[in-house]
Amino acid sequence: MKKLILISIDGFRPELIDKKYCQFLHSLSKNSYYSNNVQSVIPPITLPCFYSIFFGVNPLTHGVFYNIIHDDYKVNSPNLFEILSKNNFSCSAYFNWKTLEKAFGHNNNLVKYFIDDLTINGDIKMVSLLLENIKSHLPDFIFLYLGALDEVGHKYKWMSKEYIETAKTVDKLVKILIESLGETYDFIIHSDHGGYEYGHYVLMKEIMTVPLLFISRNSNNIEFNKKVGIIDIAPTILNYFGINIPINWEGTPFITK
Ligand SMILES: [Zn+2]
Repeated sequence: MKKLILISIDGFRPELIDKKYCQFLHSLSKNSYYSNNVQSVIPPITLPCFYSIFFGVNPLTHGVFYNIIHDDYKVNSPNLFEILSKNNFSCSAYFNWKTLEKAFGHNNNLVKYFIDDLTINGDIKMVSLLLENIKSHLPDFIFLYLGALDEVGHKYKWMSKEYIETAKTVDKLVKILIESLGETYDFIIHSDHGGYEYGHYVLMKEIMTVPLLFISRNSNNIEFNKKVGIIDIAPTILNYFGINIPINWEGTPFITK
């Protein structure tokens, strides 16, 4: 059965996938499809990144360049959740940054769980809620956005003691999810952008490069293209579910069978 969870850890730098920071993700990187050189989009800002992830096109095409957009802003490209919904795949989204909802599109049956807490406690609450909900319903596709790490980066600096401590807790949350659901779901784990000093506004390696892992229950004959960008996430997900990719989308699947 095709079942997939997309975990997006906001502002997660590739060097965190190391024994001294995130032990679980590090061990996972040894036993899964992994790249530590995934390209963000320009500008590497959260809302533009997620518009690219869910509408399959770069910011120059979708036109969202900041974290603020008009309420009735429309993107002229099919949205991932709308396509999955049209093809009868059930979808849920867990998120603790309200603005992200704008990137989810319309006309879909997406079940949304918003927790109004952008601290690590909010991340923990979302994971508990997801695990509770899954006892009664197994959606085909789940999107989980963990927003605390980026907040801590902005407040204390990327790679500060506080940032690393938060990353270690996020690592434990991922471990809980994979140990609980790894026999039922496949996973894509990634970030939207990195960060440097107190932000992520310029085009430098520490900001433009993120990690990505694909954890599959059945990994025979999979080809993983390590030259991947976050623009390739939506086509990969449609390909995973056996759905045709819209011709205007600008990425290509990073996993092929
Ligand atoms: Zn972000």
